[in-house]
Amino acid sequence: MMNQKKIQNYSIFFFISLVFFRCTSSSNTENTNLETDKELMVRALEIHDRVLTVDTHADTPMRMIEPGFDMAIEHDPNETGSKVDYPRMKKGGLDAIFFAAFVAQDIRNNFGNRSAKTLCLQMIDSILVSTEKNADNVGLALNPEDAYKLEKEGKRAIFIGIENGYPIGSDISNVKLYFEKGVRYITLVHSSNNDIADSATDDEGPEHGGISELGKDVVKEMNRLGIMVDISHGSDSVFYDAISLSKAPIIASHSNARMITDHKRNMTDDMLKLIAKNKGVVQLTMISDYLREALPNAQRDSAMAIHSATMKPLEEMTQEDREDYRTEIDEINKKYPIKEANVKHVVDHIDHIVKVAGIDHVGIGCDFDGGGGIEGIFDVSEVMNITIELVKRGYSEEQIQKIWGGNIMRVLGEVQEIAQQIQSKEVS
Ligand SMILES: [Zn+2]
Repeated sequence: MMNQKKIQNYSIFFFISLVFFRCTSSSNTENTNLETDKELMVRALEIHDRVLTVDTHADTPMRMIEPGFDMAIEHDPNETGSKVDYPRMKKGGLDAIFFAAFVAQDIRNNFGNRSAKTLCLQMIDSILVSTEKNADNVGLALNPEDAYKLEKEGKRAIFIGIENGYPIGSDISNVKLYFEKGVRYITLVHSSNNDIADSATDDEGPEHGGISELGKDVVKEMNRLGIMVDISHGSDSVFYDAISLSKAPIIASHSNARMITDHKRNMTDDMLKLIAKNKGVVQLTMISDYLREALPNAQRDSAMAIHSATMKPLEEMTQEDREDYRTEIDEINKKYPIKEANVKHVVDHIDHIVKVAGIDHVGIGCDFDGGGGIEGIFDVSEVMNITIELVKRGYSEEQIQKIWGGNIMRVLGEVQEIAQQIQSKEVS
């Protein structure tokens, strides 16, 4: 039997441990023993390794179409600006990614639509060629089962998305063409209004009051085929229209919480509650301005404004133009640096979405190669830092599995199931 003194000593030790433990890991309910930082790190990395990790948004196809850019080679992000390649995906423990064929909004007529379609198809083909060429390490994924199977084989799963519905033009049959190429989500609109929907950031303001008549048909066709409707970049009305029009759950492939960071690209609490009701998912993005309130930086803002005013449309850019464009951005960044957001900001947004919408409605869409990259998650090789922070804050493996891939794969599965139901009704 323990004597009184011993019991007292244990009590003191227990009390100190508890205080220490509460300080280092305030909401950890899983672990009742004192865990060192190193042990926590090991546990986090093991979880990161076990769960399917999916990033729903990377603009890497813009790199892939460049002659000489090789996804099989590890690039130095500081030297090249590149944020994703297959070796770095492996390093960061990222199992699956949606490569988005991104077409910047340009003139809305037959010529513009045709050029947009050509560029979009070129990007999709570059993804298919790269996936085929690197078949030992990666594979094309068309549904959740493909992703889980590839993960088991130790290969990266490559999904395809389209950022901006502009390449659909006014021809609804293009939706099927893209679906057959492997596209599994389409972001309806980008930084300015298109024929389908209003953008959150068009200087001219809304044009359709949400989703246009053509846009309604596009959503219907996406539901019929099994393509996820992505409302990131859309105006608030686009969100509400998509919620009421779509027969299947919707996604925000790269958007954050507006209550934490007041930005038009982020989602209000009302939207978060509705997306939960809709059974959809919001995928957190690693863009500093959407993650924390930006400090004023007038000189940088004007340098950036001048830079984008002189920028050519993407499809008119030569390789040399692209390099010049990046060098100019690098120079502006060096001259007028911004304080980047960090992983704590990311998990603050996750905490908030979990509180408002629930654990089943949040995921990750980094936007690498499209402006994404913050302190500590500069490129794809560092995404495990999200898991480490989640573990620090007491998230369980089951919760982390949902955030990293479970939720988005559930949504994709449901979208595909609903498409089958729609198609079987058509037949009968
Ligand atoms: Zn974007």
